[in-house]
Amino acid sequence: MSELAINGGQPVRTKVFPAYSIIGKEEQEAVQRIMESEILSKYLGSWEPDFYGGPEVQEFEKEWAQYFGVKHAIAVNSCTSGIQCAVGAASISPGDEVIVSPYTMVASVTAPLIYGGIPVFADIEEEYFCLDPKSIEEKITKRTKAIIVVDIFGQPYDADAINAIAEKHNLIVIEDCAQAPGVKYKNKYAGTLADIGIYSLNYHKHIHTGEGGVIVTDDDNLAQRLQLIRNHADAVVGGMGVEDITNMVGFNMRLTELQAAIGREQLKKLDRLVKERIENCNYLDERLSKIPGLRAPKVREGAEHAYYVHPLLYDEKEIGVDRDTFIDAVVAELPPIELRESEGVRLFTGGAKPLYLLPIFQKKIAIGNKGFPFVGPHYDGEACYDKGICPVVERIYEKEMVIDELMRPPMTKEDLDDVVRAFEKVYEHRQELKK
Ligand SMILES: *Cc1c(COP(=O)(O)O)cnc(C)c1O
Repeated sequence: MSELAINGGQPVRTKVFPAYSIIGKEEQEAVQRIMESEILSKYLGSWEPDFYGGPEVQEFEKEWAQYFGVKHAIAVNSCTSGIQCAVGAASISPGDEVIVSPYTMVASVTAPLIYGGIPVFADIEEEYFCLDPKSIEEKITKRTKAIIVVDIFGQPYDADAINAIAEKHNLIVIEDCAQAPGVKYKNKYAGTLADIGIYSLNYHKHIHTGEGGVIVTDDDNLAQRLQLIRNHADAVVGGMGVEDITNMVGFNMRLTELQAAIGREQLKKLDRLVKERIENCNYLDERLSKIPGLRAPKVREGAEHAYYVHPLLYDEKEIGVDRDTFIDAVVAELPPIELRESEGVRLFTGGAKPLYLLPIFQKKIAIGNKGFPFVGPHYDGEACYDKGICPVVERIYEKEMVIDELMRPPMTKEDLDDVVRAFEKVYEHRQELKK
């Protein structure tokens, strides 16, 4: 008789896991307050006081800057917008190379293309999955202008090593901190470790406003450039008397008053939500790492991990079953999360496919259809996106990485025990999977 649910046995659990429910009365009241004011956004795309947005946006920025200990916070309508804004503010020009990670959400690598910049992929660290400083150094050329680092899964990037490389080669560092708000690396918050950092406030992130993002920097000049690009720079620079109009083609990346009001309430909850994730992951890790062949995520020396997701490394040789077969069997033992039932069980393998394998890079077609910016007179390098350029990420993606979201508050010890039991059960009965 089969024991494993995937073979028709009884699953460990069928009752859905509790929803990640973080929008409450406080947010509802904040929205109500804005609705009653009837000012849902107050921006003007010209040089006047409202160029900086309405009162909620400005208060939200002030509170965000204070919380993260940074001079400027600039609210935007998404982290994707924020990264594009940062690349523009960094004066990236056609043919400039920007070093990026192959293991992230796609927005952190495509932003340079908007300004004609060339994404150059460096490999990731075996242990922490962030950009590997050694690989970055190998990819630097005379055309390199910036590095976009990512605090992937909630782990801060290796700021000491990478910032030193950047300083040596006069490169700007942009930190995509969408997945690591509220944790520190050596007494500084992730997101504030580079020249510019960007947070996300989309629905899936630790805290959210539906959609949204915040850019932070300590640099006054960069802050002004970011504010300009966010809000129709082209129409504003004249009135403001700005001399350097490089990349001052403006966008509308503005956050509304409604979202800013929600964001102010969400920020108050961040600390607790991150703490609970850390506790839950520690609880899971202690138990799951007793299973031979499963390895809990390491946390960088001097850093905290925000656990946007919970990564595990799988050793096929030690377990004797290939990763995808094993995880399919664990998935069959577990239920989805409430409110997100349609997404299925939040346990999967691989993570993001190494991004240079996307059609945009394989076909080298981004802006228009003639190969810009990958080929043309502005670029005398050769962008290479062949399979094999980053062997570590390919191996981790194909064979080793397992990711789950079954650690978000308000998961209780009993809920977490069910997750552990599902892994243990499949491990104990793994012979069934070999038949
Ligand atoms: C979510 C995410 C983004 C994009 O955030 P949006 O606010 O949805 O644009 C960028 N980078 C990483 C690493 C992310 O996880």
